[in-house]
Amino acid sequence: MSINHIMVIGAGTMGNGIAHVFAQTGHQVTLVDVDDARIQAGINTISANIDRQVKKGILKTKEKKEALDRIHKSIDLKASAPECDLIIEAATENFGIKTELFQTLDKRAKRSAILASNTSSISITRLAGVTKRPEKVIGMHFFNPVPVMKLIEIVRGIDTSNKTYRSIKELSEKLGKIPVEVNDSPGFLSNRVLMPMINEAIFCLHEGVATAEDIDSVMKLGMAHPMGPLALADFIGLDVCLYIMEVLHRDLGDDKHRPCPLLRRMVDAGHLGRKAGRGFYNYAT
Ligand code: NAD
Repeated sequence: MSINHIMVIGAGTMGNGIAHVFAQTGHQVTLVDVDDARIQAGINTISANIDRQVKKGILKTKEKKEALDRIHKSIDLKASAPECDLIIEAATENFGIKTELFQTLDKRAKRSAILASNTSSISITRLAGVTKRPEKVIGMHFFNPVPVMKLIEIVRGIDTSNKTYRSIKELSEKLGKIPVEVNDSPGFLSNRVLMPMINEAIFCLHEGVATAEDIDSVMKLGMAHPMGPLALADFIGLDVCLYIMEVLHRDLGDDKHRPCPLLRRMVDAGHLGRKAGRGFYNYAT
């Protein structure tokens, strides 16, 4: 099946990045959000990010207009869904929102359409379970910032067909990305490995083993990580880190995944990292 027209649901951090890479590689994109202002904000971000690519010589000036012309706005998911070959849901990380979207998409999208989710932690098998096409439901887990990061974690639900997997793998390669196949499991592969490391770094801070700066220095200088775990947690958002640790703890049932009390306290206090101006580091200007 050829995939030409992609719908991206959610024009936030991830959705606008996903729309950007599809438009840049010649696909028609319908970008959906709950209101015009959010879609326009997403398109403004895409425009600014393409300017950066033009400056670096990655894209030509005329390619900017061509890419932006391929992005169509819609606040009417039901009306726009039937014309799309692939629908990628990148809406807020909330099980209720996502299941409602998948139920609607299952009714409105054409039978051949693939339904994908960019979720970081919600089971693809559970999302597939609310549709009548579980063989066509798959995880396409992009990384932030999407135009820069090479990896796509392709998550197979229990009923995802080989045909669906192959189509998404080929498409990911056309985007210039490197797909990695992962079976549906709490946190998939990326967050199953990353989040416990971040949580352990927070325990080290909590127990006074070292300062935040020194914990990050050890991992950067000793392990060649480009960012220390605490700086990375601030970048991801401490609320997101806590949410994913809770998913790992609940769904894997192992106390080694209990969230550090300091992580909980910081989230309670609203010190959510970069987006809040304060996390393990201070970002106030
Ligand atoms: P975000 O808050 O920046 O954007 C979410 C967007 O979804 C918002 O614009 C919101 O208005 C929109 N939305 C909510 N309900 C909607 C609905 N019913 N219909 C249409 N639009 C709706 O969030 P984000 O960081 O872009 O995350 C989106 C998804 O990507 C989440 O599932 C998240 O777990 C996943 N993810 C995030 C990252 C990251 O680093 N931020 C990385 C990988 C995956």
